[in-house]
Amino acid sequence: MLTVENLHVSYGAIKALHGVNLEVPEGSIVTLIGANGAGKSTTLRALSGLVKTAAGSVKYKGREISKLSPNKIVETGLCHVPEGRMVFANLTVLENLKMGAYLQRDKKWIASQTDYVFGLFPRLKEREGQAAGTLSGGEQQMLAIGRALLSKPDFLMLDEPSLGIAPLLVKSIFERIVEINREQGLTVLLVEQNANLALDVSSYAYVLETGKVLLEGPSARLKADPKVQECYLGA
Ligand code: ATP
Repeated sequence: MLTVENLHVSYGAIKALHGVNLEVPEGSIVTLIGANGAGKSTTLRALSGLVKTAAGSVKYKGREISKLSPNKIVETGLCHVPEGRMVFANLTVLENLKMGAYLQRDKKWIASQTDYVFGLFPRLKEREGQAAGTLSGGEQQMLAIGRALLSKPDFLMLDEPSLGIAPLLVKSIFERIVEINREQGLTVLLVEQNANLALDVSSYAYVLETGKVLLEGPSARLKADPKVQECYLGA
């Protein structure tokens, strides 16, 4: 569904990515793990058009998208939930969800998808009239995912959904990600510092180091790899 070849990204003189290759099959959950500064967020930003690619190709559903603007990329069904969540703090939970649906015209679909999100995250339903800025970190993460679902994506990119969230909520959010993948047939590309969790929910994984893919393979195999255990799993 998504094929990235030889992707290069620079921030001025800093080369953040040099020659990343990766593949995300339709319906799968694939994860990118790696240390701070390895280029994980930059990869997602490049895929969603938020940073310019210096070289390389990004093919999504067979179409080259690396030169498209971010809004054109959203229209193709690829949706990015950035690190730090970026909910609209002064808008209510429900208003945030509506913002996610700004490209959708089908009111029935919007209503049923909103119900689906509230079913997935009952805490959001309880807080639908509350200003998003007053939600806890975990609740804001739920809202960011819910808002993304209202853009009717078929490919979801999640940047560090566990960041700054209490462990119990993290577990629940990851269970919901697996549920969304199964129930809505959504393909997921997950960036995570919590490599243990990321390898548990994904089928295939890439380890990035200084802007390059250092290792790749089925998640279970990487989890059993002594080098991965030592460097990324705290063994
Ligand atoms: P983290 O887990 O810490 O977020 P990451 O793997 O997501 O790390 P990136 O945020 O993609 O890494 O950063 C990759 C490299 O690019 C780093 O060296 C970082 O300092 C640099 N970088 C990222 N954003 C910018 C920017 N806006 N301007 C300049 N350099 C940047």
